[in-house]
Amino acid sequence: MKAWRLPYSKADRLDLAEVPTPEPAAGEVLIAVRAIGLNSSEMQLIRGDWDGPGVHRPYPLIPGIEAAGEIVAVGDGVPADRIGERVTVHYRWSCGHCSECVSGNENTCLVAASPTAPKFGRTIDGAYAEYARVPAGFAIPIPEGVSFVDAAAMTVSGGTAWHMAMVRGQVRANETVLVTGGSSGVGTMLVQLARLAGCRVAATAGGPEKANRLHELGVDLVLDHRAPGDWTEPLNRLSDGAGVDCVLDIAGAGTWPRFLPAMRQRGRVVVGGYMSGAQASFDLKESTIREITIMGASSWTRNAVREVLSLAAQGAIRPVIGAQLPFERLPDGLAMLRDRTSYGNLVVEVG
Ligand SMILES: [Zn+2]
Repeated sequence: MKAWRLPYSKADRLDLAEVPTPEPAAGEVLIAVRAIGLNSSEMQLIRGDWDGPGVHRPYPLIPGIEAAGEIVAVGDGVPADRIGERVTVHYRWSCGHCSECVSGNENTCLVAASPTAPKFGRTIDGAYAEYARVPAGFAIPIPEGVSFVDAAAMTVSGGTAWHMAMVRGQVRANETVLVTGGSSGVGTMLVQLARLAGCRVAATAGGPEKANRLHELGVDLVLDHRAPGDWTEPLNRLSDGAGVDCVLDIAGAGTWPRFLPAMRQRGRVVVGGYMSGAQASFDLKESTIREITIMGASSWTRNAVREVLSLAAQGAIRPVIGAQLPFERLPDGLAMLRDRTSYGNLVVEVG
């Protein structure tokens, strides 16, 4: 099969190689990959941002955490009638029996948190190939009416957004919600979920073109993060003077000093990413005087993926796909993520 491989740590490039097609081991399925979703985290892995002492990856490594396709073979112990099933991969293989897993928090599984735990596209071969093998329980069925491309565009972005907005932030009807990084794959999912929950939605984006596209998605107010100026006044107007109830933050550091003064009493901030940097600097008094709650959101569960796929099958949400590339041009998609020239999700079609 053809595969894009990272030749060594911090290589910051991928090589297209012809490699043996893997065989499914006991408990695994083999998937013929039809579509691959590209994610910023993969670009960081390829660049070597996460490599350091204690991190061991087998090189050459096939990166990629998001793949949708068809099951074409099963290992021992997996029912043969799964062959032919359309599935999307959940990359983080939780153990199922630690205290986090049994309490319904498989996203913070204590076993999967280990740097040596098998993670699809991180510590073992992943999505950037014509075939991928994964444990059967982490191949999630794609409902009818959702294409491979749509599934590959929304497994990571939709799962992340569901966990941030619905599980952690618990946004509710009539609340005012601010999504930072609104034009990204996760951002476009967050604004749709907040709209669906009945919230007034503001979002940040860079430049008028991305702002227009967010308005088309139903965003009530777009704040251009490149432009100077105060966010409190427009956010107050949107919320009838009350302030923002919940910030769903994936932009990170630079936005904190701008949104904190615009929050209402006991507002919530859900931190799900930090595209502009993780070292935020802001006045702590801004959080105490209005009793702000700051909470993290880590990864997502398989259930989150099932929820967003089901909403897509009903037509209630749709993944926003900024570009669709052939397999041979996969590195061009990563360059678009690096240069932040993309809008929404980037998908690579295979075969
Ligand atoms: Zn566990």
